[in-house]
Amino acid sequence: MSRISDFIGKSAVDNVKEALRRACEVEEYHALLSLTEERALERAELVDKGEISGRLAGVPFVVKDNFLAFGAPTTAAAKMLENFNAPLQATAVEKLEAEGAICIGKANLDAFAHGGSTENSAFGPTKNAADKTRVAGGSSGGSAVVTALDVVPFALGTDTGGSIRQPASFNGVVGVKPTYGAVSRYGVVAMASSTDTIGCFATNADDANLVMEIMAGRDDKDMTTLPDFWQHQPGFTKKKIGLVKQCMTDDVDAAVRQKTLDYAEKLKQLGYDVEEVDLSMMQHSLAMYYIIVPAEISSNLARYDGVRYGHRAAEVKTLAELYGRSRNEGFMTENKRRIMIGSFVLSSGFFDAYYMQAQKARTLLINEFKQLFAEYDALLMPVAPTPAFRFGEHADPVQMYLADIMTVPASLAGLPAISVPAGTSDEGLPIGVQLVGDYRSDGDLLKLAAEVEAA
Ligand code: GLN
Repeated sequence: MSRISDFIGKSAVDNVKEALRRACEVEEYHALLSLTEERALERAELVDKGEISGRLAGVPFVVKDNFLAFGAPTTAAAKMLENFNAPLQATAVEKLEAEGAICIGKANLDAFAHGGSTENSAFGPTKNAADKTRVAGGSSGGSAVVTALDVVPFALGTDTGGSIRQPASFNGVVGVKPTYGAVSRYGVVAMASSTDTIGCFATNADDANLVMEIMAGRDDKDMTTLPDFWQHQPGFTKKKIGLVKQCMTDDVDAAVRQKTLDYAEKLKQLGYDVEEVDLSMMQHSLAMYYIIVPAEISSNLARYDGVRYGHRAAEVKTLAELYGRSRNEGFMTENKRRIMIGSFVLSSGFFDAYYMQAQKARTLLINEFKQLFAEYDALLMPVAPTPAFRFGEHADPVQMYLADIMTVPASLAGLPAISVPAGTSDEGLPIGVQLVGDYRSDGDLLKLAAEVEAA
């Protein structure tokens, strides 16, 4: 797989043409919903003339189709936004463009990022890069697959409960979910505001670090953003890694456990002590997540009313019918399920029993992480209980939710977590492992991953 440096110093027009050619060559994976060909080639010409320069000059990339970006519609893979043309670009995209990077297309996802397989896309699923009979993972499935298939050296995704880490693991690439607030979410379609993060896919840890460092930092258009911390990370000093015991039980696929233990061995060879640790609140994390996240989804999706923008039902007679039919036609089943759950847990009489209770449990989880990071530099665990599953295998929504067990804890706590390739199963399916760190240790996590890669 190619690295960012392979594209630097070459003709940007050639880089872009090659990425577009490759995108067409692998069309059957259905990883991309659109190409931004015209705009990409215009920008490439400006780079070649020296009118745009920077650390990513002429490097092609792809964004998940829930990022507002010019050159193609922003659909969030939903009928609701099928013809929506962004009036502005996401801050993350603007920052990459300011360094000369060139967006060549928009990647498939579960509609509104609700899901873990990209099967919930209104425009059809994406196939796994290693096995076309299996899912790409999700919700950022398309971004993971274009990176793994060498269409582009990096791609952007969003991670609310695992949507970067899990597809990265399923396709054998690096995936970064940063500290909550590290990267501006301005111009990205909102899912759950208290856990949404912007991150990337890359073929190696150093490239991921560069892309994240460029995107990170304070943005006055997103009041949750943190002042830039990426450059100023002290490095790990405790030399201790905790291996989360709850993730290593018989319920977890044997190959997944073995790859995690192999990775622990590599960390030991680099001088780290690896010890089993308890993350007991993990067992409650799905219950918290599937209360808090739908609650926030129901609120964030209230804006799609068929009036201001998005899909508008035809031939309606009353306002209630306009709202009802527009939303019924524009949302997928999974979107509706979450709106209903969210409205329920926020309704009077149930708010205290569900939403408040879940927020209290969330604090206990955060405290448990805090205690662990007093002693350990980072935690090691699998990304998902199994490698990529087959299409339709998790048709029951609860089965699908259960597969998120290992990614949602870091999301609920707002902690940085990265997914790194750790080998393949006997069937040749990629398996990733996850490193979770304390707040603002994102760069250190990636440095550690780079050390393991080099060894
Ligand atoms: N699979 C998780 C969910 O369905 C994560 C989604 C995400 O991170 N966007 O909520």
